[in-house]
Amino acid sequence: PRLANQIAAGEVVERPASVTKELIENAIDAGSRRIEVDIDTGGARLIRVRDDGRGIAEDDLPLALARHATSKISSLEDLEGVHSLGFRGEALASISSVSRLELVSNAHDDPTQGWRVVAEGRAMESRVSPAPHPRGTTVSVRDLFFNTPARRKFMRTEKTEFGHVEEAFRRQALSRYDIAWVLRHNQKVVHQLPPGDTAAARERRIAALLGKNFIEHARYIEREVGALRLSGWVGLPTHSRAQADQQYFFVNGRVVRDRLVAHAVRQAYRDVMFHGRQPVFVLYLDLDPDVVDVNVHPTKHEVRFRDGRMVHDFLFSSLHHSLAQSQS
Ligand code: ADP
Ligand code: MG
Repeated sequence: PRLANQIAAGEVVERPASVTKELIENAIDAGSRRIEVDIDTGGARLIRVRDDGRGIAEDDLPLALARHATSKISSLEDLEGVHSLGFRGEALASISSVSRLELVSNAHDDPTQGWRVVAEGRAMESRVSPAPHPRGTTVSVRDLFFNTPARRKFMRTEKTEFGHVEEAFRRQALSRYDIAWVLRHNQKVVHQLPPGDTAAARERRIAALLGKNFIEHARYIEREVGALRLSGWVGLPTHSRAQADQQYFFVNGRVVRDRLVAHAVRQAYRDVMFHGRQPVFVLYLDLDPDVVDVNVHPTKHEVRFRDGRMVHDFLFSSLHHSLAQSQS
């Protein structure tokens, strides 16, 4: 199983940022209200995600690290309607096969309870020892790729790897305003984001994550047609430091990089203005979960709409309208 896990790890665990993403998704799935991420040396030395979610019961701890063990679906029918971010039961097994992983968790309100289990690049040490922890879970991933030198070679500088981690964090923090977030690098606070779902709170968070400049020159957009709802901020041409990577699109709360979506946005911008300017935006599309499949691939962030054409036209016309108005 170790080799199988390491092969699978190639798909899920590309670099510190992908580990961070998986751990954060688990924390979100656990219903956490507060998620703290600690990174050391760009993630090469340590990636730690601490949450206050429902925790893992002692008996389920070893299972959490086993391959294809997921608590999130129990039948094929469930697969049809997955709402959790993870459901393949692959991430922890894969990560633990290429790192030294420690999991501490408590599923009770009593903070003197809690359990700890470790795995080091191979079959997990089955010993579960007591370790007090407030309700919730802390997963620490140390020495990523310590046993796979070929993969370690592909890690970039500390700064580059942390940049990717921060980007993964940013996407998650932009998808859940009701959660409090903290990101530290080498013990220094990089982002500290209080929870809040009002328009003002959202704008504060976006300013913290993407810069005041973005939000000051962005236009708020909100449009609903039938079962489709689009909301968010589109950057305007006065936004001089527009960057190609300030493009965030969420479908039912999940970040998406999709050709159909990208095409609709690009066309709307191109039609209205902005020669030589990169579109910048933070947009949320919500629609009936039955008409979109967001679980096409574990890492590619693609979606499949049942009626792609309709979604494309809705996006294009909504953005076109808003951008045209902002010009006059
Ligand atoms: P998946 O998320 O696809 O189920 P993972 O390997 O990421 O698979 O996690 C395996 C299982 O471990 C999850 O199904 C869940 O039961 C448990 N788990 C992992 N992380 C947490 C967490 N932070 N809080 C609660 N349970 C967790
Ligand atoms: Mg998961």
